[in-house]
Amino acid sequence: MSTAARAAVIRKTGAPWVIEDVEVATPREDEVLVRMVGTGICHTDMGCKDGHFPVPMPIVLGHEGSGVVEAIGAKVSKVKVGDHVVMSFDSCGHCHSCDAHLPSYCYEFYPRNLSGMRSVDGSATITSKGEALNAVFFCQSSFATYAVAREINTIVVDKSLPLEILGPLGCGIQTGAGAAVNALGIKKGDSLAIFGGGAVGLSALLGARAVGAGTVIVVEPNVGRGKLALELGATHVINPKETADVLAKIKELTGAGVHFGLDTTGIPAVIAAGVEALLPNGMMGLLGVPPPEATVPANMMSMLVRGIGVKYIVEGDADPQEFIPRMAGWYKEGKFPFDRLIKKFPFDQINEAAQSSLSGDVIKPVLVF
Ligand SMILES: [Zn+2]
Ligand SMILES: [Zn+2]
Repeated sequence: MSTAARAAVIRKTGAPWVIEDVEVATPREDEVLVRMVGTGICHTDMGCKDGHFPVPMPIVLGHEGSGVVEAIGAKVSKVKVGDHVVMSFDSCGHCHSCDAHLPSYCYEFYPRNLSGMRSVDGSATITSKGEALNAVFFCQSSFATYAVAREINTIVVDKSLPLEILGPLGCGIQTGAGAAVNALGIKKGDSLAIFGGGAVGLSALLGARAVGAGTVIVVEPNVGRGKLALELGATHVINPKETADVLAKIKELTGAGVHFGLDTTGIPAVIAAGVEALLPNGMMGLLGVPPPEATVPANMMSMLVRGIGVKYIVEGDADPQEFIPRMAGWYKEGKFPFDRLIKKFPFDQINEAAQSSLSGDVIKPVLVF
C-alpha cells in the first residue's frame, strides 16, 4: 500500500521544479515513513538541479527534511510513530568510517545518498503513475509531502522545538557548525576566520560562539549578511569589496593571525589568503565547492615552517544522531539562534524560494507544508 503524495520533480537538468501527484512506497523493515512538515533548500539541491553535480533524472531532490513519523518498518526500534524527526544523510553503519562515528565518510556515501534508488536493490521509493522516479536523495527526497528514510538517518528531536524549521540541522547548519566544533575542534578562546557568510559560514559562526570561541572574523561582501554576522556574535566583519588586502587586515585585527580558517567559497585566491592568515599549527578547513580543475593554492614551504594543515570537511564531521540533538539543545538554551538564518516559504513556492537564496536575499529558505 503506497501513500498518495505531492512531490516537486525535476524532469530535465536545469528545468524548474514542477509539483506532481506521486505515490510514496510503504517503509521496509529498516525504514520509516515521514509526513513532511518543513524542509530547507541547500545549495547542493540547486547544484544537482542545474547539472553541477551529476544526478539521474527525473529526480525528487531535498535533503533537509523535518516531519512526523507516520509508519515504521518491523525492525525499527529507536524511532516511533508520532515522533518528531529531522532527516540527515544515509550511511551503511558498518564500514571503517561508520565504526569510527564518522558516517559522512561512509564508504557507501555516494550510492546511498546520490544514486536516486535504494542502494541495496535499485528499487524506487517514489513513483508517478507507475513510473519510477529517482528519489532516495540523501535517503529522504524531502521535496515531497511524504518521505521514506532509514532509521539510521532519522533523528528524533524534542517535541517542544519548532519542527518546521529544524530540517536544516540535517545538512547546511550541521555542515557549518560541525566544521567549527567537530572537525576543527574549536574550543574556548580559539580564534577563527570564516570566508563567506552564507548559511554554512554563519552556521560555523554560531557553532564557534556556542563553544566559547574568542575572535571570530567573517569575510563577506554582502553588507546585509555582514551586519547579521555581527549580530550573531562575529567580533569583526571584513568586506573584501572595501578591503583590498584581506590577509593584512586579519593580521592587523588579531596581531599575528588566527588559529583556524574555514572557507565556504571554493575560490582558490581566498583559500590562499586563509592559509597565510593562520598561526603556527593552524588548520584550514575547506567546505566550498571549487572549480573542477582547481588545485590547493598554498605555498608548501610557508606551510612547512608553520606546521599548517588543510582539510576538506564533509557534513561537519558530524554523527547526526549525536550532533543534531546537541545543536537543538544549544538552540533551546538560547546560544545557537539558527532561526535567524531562515525565511519560510509555502511548498508551492519552491522555485521562488530557491531563487531568493541564489540572489543572496535569503540565507536559508525553508519550505513549509
Ligand atoms: Zn559506512
Ligand atoms: Zn546540503
